[in-house]
Amino acid sequence: MSKILVTGGAGFIGSHTVVELQNSGYDVVVLDNLSNSSEKSLDRVAKITGKEVPFYKADIRDREALEKIFSKEEIGAVIHFAGLKAVGESVEKPWEYYDNNITGTLTLVDVMRKHGCKNIIFSSSATVYGNPAFIPITEECPKGQCTNPYGWTKSMLEQILSDIQKADNEWNVILLRYFNPIGAHKSGTIGENPSGIPNNLMPFITQVAVGKRDHLNVFGNDYDTPDGTGVRDYIHVVDLAIGHVKALKKIEEKAGLKIYNLGTGHGYSVLDIVKNFEEANGVKIPYEIQARRPGDIATCYADASLAKKELGWEAKYGIREMCEDSWRWQKNNPEGY
Ligand code: NAD
Ligand code: UDP
Repeated sequence: MSKILVTGGAGFIGSHTVVELQNSGYDVVVLDNLSNSSEKSLDRVAKITGKEVPFYKADIRDREALEKIFSKEEIGAVIHFAGLKAVGESVEKPWEYYDNNITGTLTLVDVMRKHGCKNIIFSSSATVYGNPAFIPITEECPKGQCTNPYGWTKSMLEQILSDIQKADNEWNVILLRYFNPIGAHKSGTIGENPSGIPNNLMPFITQVAVGKRDHLNVFGNDYDTPDGTGVRDYIHVVDLAIGHVKALKKIEEKAGLKIYNLGTGHGYSVLDIVKNFEEANGVKIPYEIQARRPGDIATCYADASLAKKELGWEAKYGIREMCEDSWRWQKNNPEGY
């Protein structure tokens, strides 16, 4: 059986996906340059699954390294997580983001096709909808204006991969638009490990809970939402990981070009998350209301019925488990890996 190459497999979503792939019987190879992760995540994955995780420390822009991997391993499909993802940093360093994410993906895809591997699942984001034209967001919702270079890399890579598939229908391309992944594996041994001050809500909350930060800043309470704070579709990372296994099955059936939203279909406000976290874990999260964060939108949640219909996938974990699992990981690993 051919193998699945997971780029960015040492990262947050990648490591959880490797667990689900190995548990489903897939032979996995991971490539990561460890720019935003630790190889320890893969040792922990191996402990969970009882299977070693073959690992190449390499950069997706390094054609020679990719050539070696594709020559040595028989890769049947690529799940492509590798990329830089910090929104604020992308505004400061646009060249680095376009180079890493776009040059990297172009190089990866070129090496893939030279080796006859034309199956890819790509990590896209709900950010491509910009300020969404309607809610809940279906895949038919037009793509919008992104507010930062990170978002543009996702939007542009969707276009690039779609054009490549349209020009050569041997390609199977699945674009997965993630909503807001949070939570962690039940074991509490793998999870999200942001460097520096977390940009995202849940890692900030868990760092307040563990005493690393004294309060949460809530960015705006004057949005047109039930309590005035921003509403998002939070999805458990294990559900997201399982979505990739389902997408791989779709690729095996010759998917062509497909786009799926991976979300739960439920919207929670910032204050809903604070309340659920406090109730689930018995920890107080002090917060202060601040000004809106530039580039944020009021409301974003998915209509995920297409993934249910075509992939047989739907999120199983609710907000309470997301809060419990995020906290277990942070509590057990206050300094990350
Ligand atoms: P992450 O930073 O934990 O994982 C990304 C991994 O890619 C890291 O391990 C990093 O070291 C690696 N990497 C980055 N550039 C690389 C390069 N040039 N060569 C090789 N490896 C490289 O992030 P994540 O949260 O697991 O996200 C995975 C993917 O999903 C990313 O593409 C991200 O943009 C996308 N995504 C994430 C979210 C989210 O909220 N976490 C939402 C939507 C989409
Ligand atoms: N948010 C917040 N404080 C933080 C981080 C985020 O109030 O420290 C809010 C943010 O304004 C948004 C929601 O939480 O309404 C989710 O933000 P996140 O950055 O996690 O995801 P995204 O903006 O990409 O949806």
